[in-house]
Order: sequence, then structure tokens, then C-alpha cells
Amino acid sequence: MSDVVIKNGRIIDGSGNPWYKADIAIEDGVIRDIGKIDGSGDIEIDARGKYVCPGFIDMHSHPDLTLFYKKVQDYKLRQGVTTEVGGNCGFTAAPLNPSTRDALRKYMAFITPPSGVNWNWQTFDQYLQAVEDSHPSTNLVFLVGQGTVRIAAMGFEQRPPTDSEILYMESLVKEAMESGAFGLSTGLVYVPGAYSETSEIIRLAKVSADYGGFYATHMRNEGDKLLDSVREAIDIGISGGLPVQISHHKATGKLNHGRVSDSLSMLVEARNNGLDVTLDQYPYIAGSTTLQAVLPPWAQEGGVEDVVQRLETFDIRCKIRSEILANKGESRMGGDLGDILITTLATELNQRFIGLTIKEISELRGQEYIDTILDLLKEEQCAVGMVVFSMAESDVRVVMSHPYTMIGSDGLYSPGNPHPRIYGTYPRVLGKYVREEGLFSLEEGVRKMTSFPAQRLGLHSKGLLKPGGDADIVVFDAKTVIDKSTFRDPHQYPLGIEYVLVNGVISVDEGEFTGNTAGRVIRSTQLS
Ligand SMILES: [Zn+2]
Repeated sequence: MSDVVIKNGRIIDGSGNPWYKADIAIEDGVIRDIGKIDGSGDIEIDARGKYVCPGFIDMHSHPDLTLFYKKVQDYKLRQGVTTEVGGNCGFTAAPLNPSTRDALRKYMAFITPPSGVNWNWQTFDQYLQAVEDSHPSTNLVFLVGQGTVRIAAMGFEQRPPTDSEILYMESLVKEAMESGAFGLSTGLVYVPGAYSETSEIIRLAKVSADYGGFYATHMRNEGDKLLDSVREAIDIGISGGLPVQISHHKATGKLNHGRVSDSLSMLVEARNNGLDVTLDQYPYIAGSTTLQAVLPPWAQEGGVEDVVQRLETFDIRCKIRSEILANKGESRMGGDLGDILITTLATELNQRFIGLTIKEISELRGQEYIDTILDLLKEEQCAVGMVVFSMAESDVRVVMSHPYTMIGSDGLYSPGNPHPRIYGTYPRVLGKYVREEGLFSLEEGVRKMTSFPAQRLGLHSKGLLKPGGDADIVVFDAKTVIDKSTFRDPHQYPLGIEYVLVNGVISVDEGEFTGNTAGRVIRSTQLS
């Protein structure tokens, strides 16, 4: 007798192959058999007319601190996500250096739950243990963030590292990889990544390579210098001797829309020349990050307190103001300044502005857009989250259709007004882009969410429905699956995701969260 039997479903195995009809028997968290199952299970799920596929792997996620926020844990599960990759864009919660820990905490305040994070770790290993002890709802794998490593070594200083500082950074990446990180991530548009030269990144990428890790990058510039940034990522892959994952690939800023065709051609050429390069994407025309990122990197040197002091100093504020305004009304992250939507604010003072655009807030405050932005950063000690409308829908479609593209939500949960991708990414791809627009087949959509990211990560027991594989499974209705979360009303669960099993445990039952949190931390050191 099995623990769970899923009967009569159409199996999409994750490989991209067409679906077939079969039953699945699950025992002790593992798929025991696929075929005609005669015996029954403790629990039986009738999947007649539904599709059964591997649990989705969120290739690009930011659960690092929000996973400690225990009030809501089901926004990923209810999309069908069973494994998430944290530590992206250069930011991880570890390793910490006690002397710079507060600087990192303040910088990450916009994605930190108001309570529940005690930061009582120092090494990467201790952080992974803290995550394990928190009983996460999804399986979690982590990259180590170059930004966090650099902050530990030298704070927010805009200069090359000394010899001893680069050696210290290498030792931190080494500790992370030996503890089970899957690779190194960068966020080179953010500080302190923006202060790092390519050669510095290559030094750290080589450490990741020594342990079989890969290099994931939020590139230096996704706008005017998109192609230079792709070139840099390719060079780091070649010189570092490791595979490259381009994060949330896009072209930002109106004048750059359409350039993803050129960037994708460069990636095809790099692959043809022997570099294992892949990419991920979220299915929206807007991104989301810290509002602080609209400031020029020089104005962010030294950390949050220094930034606030600059915003309070008349001459420097004028310089920041004119530099931002010189960019034709768009921010350095792309998108019109007035269209920026505020997702989170730290203080009680400004809570009423959450969910409004800079244009709307400026009208309420009787200010110009730029002054609203600079004042919010000042008043909130930079702990402000934003959504920025920076992309073209046609580019989203071009990138998504590419065979190198896998799906990653880039989701940042907050109880405020988060980007809808935190609730809707996977159902949106399956409902809008597969069913409604016919961009590719259901099987191809599932491949981009399952076996492809599993291959990138080396998670050979996940991403494919096969006997002996981990029982991370989704049962969904292809006729109804769709996202419901919107930019103005984000806290909405999707439709059509009916059952989700994590390690054989039913976490979503008839569309509802069961309260089971059966996720585990997966360390790269446990593989093979
Ligand atoms: Zn990013």
C-alpha cells in the first residue's frame, strides 16, 4: 500500500515530451511507480482530466529573509512551486561579519519581515541550519551573494579590494560552497556589486567553479549597456571556468526595447563556442527592487546612513537630483519615474502611500516626482520597495519563447503591495502564455519550470516524473489555470493549481494550503 496514489492523470514528465496517461504511486517521499497502479493508497487523488507534472523549480527567488516570516507561507506553494533558488542578485543573508552586519541589515530592510529574523548566524553553514530549523514550506537551495561577501569584507566602499580583502572574500565563498551553496550570484547594478571590477568577480567565480558551482548574474546594466553586460557575463563564465545563468533577462528603458534579440544572439554564439549559458525570466513587464537603486552608485557609498546624510545635504542632493533627471525621465533601472509603484515602506508615517505610484504620491504631497523619491528614501532610511515598469511585452514574449529560458519568479514577498509575481508567475505562464496566446506547448512550458532548472542545478532527483525521483508533484487544470494577482491588488492566489506535493506530503489540497511545511534545505554537497 502506497502513501499516496494519483490516478487517471495526464502525465507531463518535465522532459518536454507529450503527455501520456498513467497513475503514480508515492512512498516515503519518493515516486515508487508510474503506470497502471492497481493497489490503493492511504490517500487517493483522482486527476481525471487534469495534468500531473513535477513540482515547479523557481530558478530565481528571494526567500532569504522572508522565509522567516511565518504568517504567510503558501504563496509559492499555491503556484505549484516546490523548490526555490535563493541568494540571487548578489544578496544573501550570510556570510556575516559582525563589524558590517548592521550595514547589511539596513540595506536589506526593505525585504525583511517586521519581526522574526534574529540574524543569529555568521557563516553560510549556520544560516542554512537556521533555514532548516524554520521548517520551510518549499525545498530551498542557495547561491552565495557577491554583494553580501563584499560587504562582509569592506562594507560599502567604492574602491578595489586590497589583497587581504580579496583573499578574505575568496575564503567566504569557499566556506559557502563547502557548506552547500550551488554557486555565486552577483547584482552588478546594485551597490556594492557596482563597485566591483570584472577581475574581482572572476576571482570569486573561480572559487565557485572549484566546487562545481555556477555563476548567476543580475547584470551590470540591462538598459543602454545591455550588450556590454552580456559580454561581461560571458567573459566571467569563460575566465572563471563555470556555467553562466543570466538572471531575469530583459531590456529596460524605452530606447532599448527590442534589443533582447541581439542579446539572445550573443548567448547562442557563446553556447556554440562552448560556454554553458542559460537564462531565466519572470512573465511581467515590470521589475521590483529597492527604490534606493534609482540613486547613482556614488551616492550609495558607505551604506544607508551615508545615503541619508547625502539626501539631507543641499549641494549633494542637487547633484543627485540633476543626475537622475538627466536620464530623460526614466530611472537607471528603466521606466518612467512617475510610474514607479511603491510596494513597501518601513515607517508608520507613510503607510498610506503603499500601493500608489510616485505620480499619485507626488500629487498628494504637492511635490515633483524626483523630490517625492528622494524624500521617501530619506524619511524611510532607504527601506522602500518599488515596482518599476521597464520592459516591452514583445520582449517578454521573445525571451520566454527562447529554448534557453527557464522560469524564475524573482519574487519578493511583503505584506504591503508586492509585485504580483510572488503569487502569479507559474499560473500566468501556463494560462496566459501557453493557453491564451499559444506561445509554446504545455509540455515546453512545464520543461522551463522543471527539468531545465533541475539540470542547471544538478538536482537529478527532481524536475522529472520517474520512478525513484522525489515526489514533488503538481496536479493542475490546464483549462482554468491562471494568475489573479495584479499590480494594484496583488494578494490574490491563482486558479487551477489543485494539488501540490512536497517530498510526498500534500501541501495544497483541492487548491487550499493544508498547513504542511515539508520543504528541506538542499545542500550541493549532498548531491551525487
Ligand atoms: Zn535581480
